[in-house]
Amino acid sequence: MSSPVWHPFTQHGLEEPIPLIERAQGAILHTADGRQIIDAISSWWVTTHGHCNPRIMAAIAEQTTRLDQLIFAGWTHDPAERLAHDLCAMTPPELTRVFFSDSGSTSVEVALKMALGFWAAHDPARQAIIVMEHSYHGDTIGAMSVGERGVFNQPYEPLLFDVTTVPFPASGAQQQTLDTLEAACASGAAAFIVEPLVLGAGGMLMYSADLLAQMRAICARHGVLFIADEVMTGWGRTGTLLACEQAEISPDILCLSKGLTGGSLPLAVTMASEPVFKAHYSTDRARMFFHSSSYTANPIACAAANANLAIWREEPVRERIATLIGWQTALLERLSALPGVVRTRQAGTIIAFDIEDRGESGYLSDIAPRLRQHCLDKDVLLRPLGNTVYLMPPYCIEEAQLAHIGNVLADGIAAIG
Ligand SMILES: *Cc1c(COP(=O)(O)O)cnc(C)c1O
Repeated sequence: MSSPVWHPFTQHGLEEPIPLIERAQGAILHTADGRQIIDAISSWWVTTHGHCNPRIMAAIAEQTTRLDQLIFAGWTHDPAERLAHDLCAMTPPELTRVFFSDSGSTSVEVALKMALGFWAAHDPARQAIIVMEHSYHGDTIGAMSVGERGVFNQPYEPLLFDVTTVPFPASGAQQQTLDTLEAACASGAAAFIVEPLVLGAGGMLMYSADLLAQMRAICARHGVLFIADEVMTGWGRTGTLLACEQAEISPDILCLSKGLTGGSLPLAVTMASEPVFKAHYSTDRARMFFHSSSYTANPIACAAANANLAIWREEPVRERIATLIGWQTALLERLSALPGVVRTRQAGTIIAFDIEDRGESGYLSDIAPRLRQHCLDKDVLLRPLGNTVYLMPPYCIEEAQLAHIGNVLADGIAAIG
C-alpha cells in the first residue's frame, strides 16, 4: 500500500525510498529492518545532546502526569515561568522578555512583528527590514520574505514583501557588506535580521565574530533593531551557547528554537529587550502585541526545555563540545586533502566544504542526492545542500562513529567525482 504522507522538501515523483525509523538513541537511528544509521546532521539540526536523552525524556514523562496544555493568554504555568526566568539568566542581560511560539519560523514572524510594533509606537515611517544575502529564516511567508529568493519560493514571490539586502561578507568583500548596511540603516530602516556567524540553509556560509560585532555597532548607531536568528546557531553549535557571545554583543531581539528542547519537542522563543516590550506596554488594549498560537508555551515542551537547560547547567556540555570540535577539526583536515574538496570551513561543531562542481551548480545539483544515497547505503544520515557537504552531529557522537562518517564520505566523494 502506498503512503498518503506528503513529506517536506521531498520530490515524490523521483520515488526515492523513504526509510522507516522505529527508535533512536544517542547518535543512532534504528530502522524497522534492523539497520543502525548514524545521524550526522542531528535530524536537521535539532538534536543536541543525543536522541532520547534520558533526563529530557523523564522530564516529559513527569510533566504528562500534571498539565498537558493551557491557554497562555492571561494564564500561566510553572514550566513556562521557570523556563523564561532561566533563559533570561543564560542570555545577555539586555534581553528581559520571553515570548513563546512553536517553531523557528514562527519565532522569526514574532520578531518581525515585534520590530514593526516597536516602530509603530515610535516612528511609523520606519518599516524597512534589512536582510543578508543567502539567509534562511524559515518557510512561512514572512520568514521567506526575509530569506534568500530562489527556486524554493519562486511560485510564492507575489506574496513576499520587499526587503533591503546587504551582500554576504565573503572574504575580501566585508567592507562592502558594512558600507551597504550603513547606508541602509542611515535611510531609516526598522530592523536588520541576521544569522550570527553561520548562514545555515544558505550553504553553511561563515563569517567572523569581528564582522558580527561591527554590524551590530552600525545598527546601534542608527537605532535600527538588531534581530539575531539563532534558531540554528544557538545551543552550542558554534562552540558557545549562543554565537552572539563570540562577538560579545546583545541583540535587541533573539530567536531560539531547534535545540531549545534538546531537539525533542517543538518549541521556540523570541526574546526581546525592555524597550521592545515597553513599546507594547500601555493601558490601551489596541497597543498589545497581537500574536498567539494555540500551543504557545505548551507545558510538556517547556518541561523538555527546562531539562535541556538543566543539562547545560549541570553536565560538562561545554567540555563535550570542545572535544567534538577537536575531532571535527581533524576530520576536516583529512577530508580537505581529497580531490574535489574545496572551501573547507568550520564554526565550532559544524564543518562544511564544497565539492567542486562540474557546471551544474546550486541546490538542485545532482551531487546532493547521489551523495545522500551513497551515505544512506553505508548507514549514515547526511543531507548535502547542493554541492555543499556539512556535518553537524549531536554532541554525544563517539569518535569511532565520526571516523566511520569520514570513511563513508571519502568513498562517496571519490565515487561521485
Ligand atoms: C531552521 C531555521 C529556521 C526555521 O525553523 P523551523 O523550526 O524549521 O520553522 C529559522 N531560522 C534558521 C536560521 C533556521 O536554521
